[in-house]
Amino acid sequence: MKTSVSWLGTRYGSQIDHSQGGAAETQEDSEAKVLVVDDEPRMRSSVADLLMAYGHECQLAANGEEALRVLGAGAVDLVLLDLNMPEMDGFQVMRDIQEKYQDTDVIVISGETTFESATEALRSGAQDFLRKPYSPDELIRVVDNLLRKRQLEKNLKEMNRCLEASENRYRFIVNNSPDIIYMLDNEGRFAFLNERAQSLLGYNTEFLLGMHYSQLVHKEDMEKARYVFDERRTGSRASQNIELRLLCRGSELPYRYFESKSITIELSAMGIYTPEQEEREREFVGTYGVARDISERKRAEEVIKFQLYHDLLTKLPNRELFRDRLNLAISQARRNKANLAVMFLDMDRFKVINDSLGHLAGDQLLQTVASRLHSCLRDGDTLARVGGDEFNLLVPGIEGRDAAAMVAKKIIDRLKEPVILDGYEVFVSFSIGIALFPEDGQTIDALIKNADMAMYHIKAHGKNGYEFFSDNMKATFQRQLSLENGIRKAIEKKQFELFFQPQFDIGSGRVCGMEALIRWNHPERGLLLPGQFIPLSEETGLIIEIGNWVLDRCCRELKHWRSAGYDDVTLAINISAAQLVQSEFERSFLDALDKHGIPGGQLEIEITENMLMQDMDQAVNKFQRLAASGVRVAVDDFGIGYSSLSYLHALPLNTLKIDRSFITGIQSPQDRNSIVTAVFAMARELGLEIVAEGVEKQAQLEYLRNLDGCRAQGFFLGHPLPASEAITLLRQNA
Ligand code: C2E
Ligand code: MG
Ligand code: MG
Repeated sequence: MKTSVSWLGTRYGSQIDHSQGGAAETQEDSEAKVLVVDDEPRMRSSVADLLMAYGHECQLAANGEEALRVLGAGAVDLVLLDLNMPEMDGFQVMRDIQEKYQDTDVIVISGETTFESATEALRSGAQDFLRKPYSPDELIRVVDNLLRKRQLEKNLKEMNRCLEASENRYRFIVNNSPDIIYMLDNEGRFAFLNERAQSLLGYNTEFLLGMHYSQLVHKEDMEKARYVFDERRTGSRASQNIELRLLCRGSELPYRYFESKSITIELSAMGIYTPEQEEREREFVGTYGVARDISERKRAEEVIKFQLYHDLLTKLPNRELFRDRLNLAISQARRNKANLAVMFLDMDRFKVINDSLGHLAGDQLLQTVASRLHSCLRDGDTLARVGGDEFNLLVPGIEGRDAAAMVAKKIIDRLKEPVILDGYEVFVSFSIGIALFPEDGQTIDALIKNADMAMYHIKAHGKNGYEFFSDNMKATFQRQLSLENGIRKAIEKKQFELFFQPQFDIGSGRVCGMEALIRWNHPERGLLLPGQFIPLSEETGLIIEIGNWVLDRCCRELKHWRSAGYDDVTLAINISAAQLVQSEFERSFLDALDKHGIPGGQLEIEITENMLMQDMDQAVNKFQRLAASGVRVAVDDFGIGYSSLSYLHALPLNTLKIDRSFITGIQSPQDRNSIVTAVFAMARELGLEIVAEGVEKQAQLEYLRNLDGCRAQGFFLGHPLPASEAITLLRQNA
C-alpha cells in the first residue's frame, strides 16, 4: 500500500493495490475517503496522520469554502468537521452537504461542550459528535463506528436492490407464462392469479381475486373440480392433468359475467400446507397450480373423433358408431324388457344413377336422401351410412312389428318425391329389411345380418318396399351362400361346359350359326342351366372369371370347326353387364381371337338392351373398336327391354334377336303378329339381320318363312347340344 499526503487537491492517502487478492473487501470494510476540515493546521495534520495510520485516505481543508471545493471535486465518504471556523462555519458546510452530498457522512468535532450544541449539530445532519479534546482512540472508535454503519446501510441497500430485481424477474416469468398460474386459499377462493388469466378468461384479475373457484367452472365439470381442489392432495397424489372447462367472459357481451362459453384447460393442483411441526399437525392453507389452455387441442381432437365415427359425405354416424349405439340399445332393451328394430336400407338402382349422372350428382343424391331419411326419425334413433348406398337404422323402444312397419312406410313415402339433380328429376326408392330384437336376433351381428337378409329378399322380389326378417330367409340365404361357394369351386375344378344351339337360315334350311350356352356339371345336382347360377355369379362378380372361360372355350371350339372346314359358321356368345364395364373388355376379345387365329366376323357378341342403360357412350366406344376387327354384335331378347331405340343408330349392330315371347304367340303361318312384322320392317330399314328365338312349332317356322330373310333358333329346330354333337350336326348339315 502506497501512502501519500497532499495539500488540497493533491492526493493524500492510500491507493488500492488490486493485484493483492482479497484487498478490495478489507478496503471496503475499513478504509474511507475522509475530509478533515479544521482552521487549526496542527489539529488537521494530527487527525490526518492518525487516520492514515489506520489506512484511510485523507484530504484536508482549512475552512468551509475549501471543504466545499473538495466535496465538489469528488466522492467523500466522511467529513470530520470543526464547527467553529471563521467566515463559513461548520453548520453552513453541513447545510451544503445535506443539500448536495447525501452519501457523505459528517462527524462534528467541536470545542463546544454544551448539550445544546451537540443536539444542534446532530439535528443539522451530523451523524456523530466528538468533543475536543479527545483521545486518538476515541476518534478512531467514532470513525470506525460510523464507517461500519455506512457499510451496513450499503449492504442493506444492495440486498434490497437484489431482492427487487429477483422479484421483478419472477413476476415477469409468472405473468408471461403461457399458462394460468393460480393460488387458492383454504376455502377455495382465488388468492393469486397471473396476468394470463385475464387474457384467457376475459376477466380482470382483480375481479377474480377473492372469488370462489366454483363460479368459474363449467357446471358439468364441477364434480371433477371439487375432487381436484377439495381433496387437498399432496406429493405424488396431487392432481395432475385434469381437464376442466372454465367459463369465459364473452367478447360480444362484455357486461354479462358468467357465460357458458368456456375453454378447456388442463390443470394441476397441489395443496399448500404449513411446515411440519412436532406437536402440531400440518395445516392446509390453500392450493396452487397451473392451468393450461388446451381448447385448440380439444377442438382438433373433437374433429378427429368426429371423422373417426362419422361418414364425411352425409355427416351421419358410420358403421363403428352404429354398432356402438346398437350395443348400448341392446343392453338397455334387455334390461327394460323392450323391443328395438334394426333396419337395413339399400337404395335401388343407385349404381345406374351414379354411373349415368356422375359421382358429383351421386354424392348430392346421397346427401339429399340422408337428410330426408333423417327427417323421418325421432330423437333416440340412429341412422348410419354403412356403405355406398347402404344405410342402417336403429329404432330403440319400438312397440312391435306394426310400429316398425309404420317407420318403414314413412321412409318410403318421404322418399317418393323426386330429387332434382343437374336439372333432371331423379326418382329414388329403397329396399328396407327389418329385424326386431329380441325375436329376430339378440346380438349386434345377428340383427344387422338378418335385417340385411330381409333387405336382399325384398330386392330380389321387386324392390322398393320393406320386409321383415323370417326364418325361411335364413334358409334361402344359406342356400345362396352354399351356391356361391359351389360356383367358386366349379371355376376351380372346371365343372362348366358349353352347349351349342344351332341357328338355321330359314330360306336354305342350313345351319348358319350356333349360340354358346353355358351349363354346370354339378357333382351332386347334375346339369344346371344358366338361370340357376348366372344371376348369383353376376351379383358376386364371379361372372368375370366365368366369362373369360366362356370366351376362351368358344375360341377353341371355333378353331376346331375351322380346322374341320366350317369357317362360315358364326358363334354367338352371351355376355353380362359386369363384363362390358370392364376396362379390358374389348381387349380380351381381340386378344382371344388373335391367339386362336379366328377372324372377328365369325364371333357374334350378344348384348341385352338393359345392359346399354348403364353407360351408353362407353359401350359405343367399345363395340366400335370390336366392329373394326369385324366382330359382330347382336341385341338379345329384343323387344322386352326398357331402353329407347336410339342405340340402334349409335351402335355398330348386325343382328336383332326377337325375344321368344313374341314368337310363342304365333299360332299359325297366317297369324297377323304386328310386332313381329314391325320388327322385321325396322330391321330391314336399318340393314340388320334377324334371328327369331324360341321357335317351338312348325307353324311358327312357316310364319317366319313367309317373312323371308331370317334366321331361326328354337327347340323345334334343335336343342342346345354338347360340343361333340354340335360338330356332328355341322358335318351332317354340310
Ligand atoms: P338367351 O341368350 O336368350 O339364350 C336362349 C335361351 O333360350 C337358352 O336358355 C336356350 O336354351 C333357351 N331356348 C332356346 N330355344 C328355346 C325354345 O324353343 N323354347 C324355350 N323355352 N327355350 C329355348 P339357357 O341355355 O337356359 O340360357 C338362359 C340364358 O342364360 C341365356 O338366354 C343367356 O342370357 C344366359 N346365358 C347362357 N349362357 C351364358 C353365358 O355363357 N354367359 C352369360 N353371361 N349368359 C349366358
Ligand atoms: Mg343369347
Ligand atoms: Mg335370348
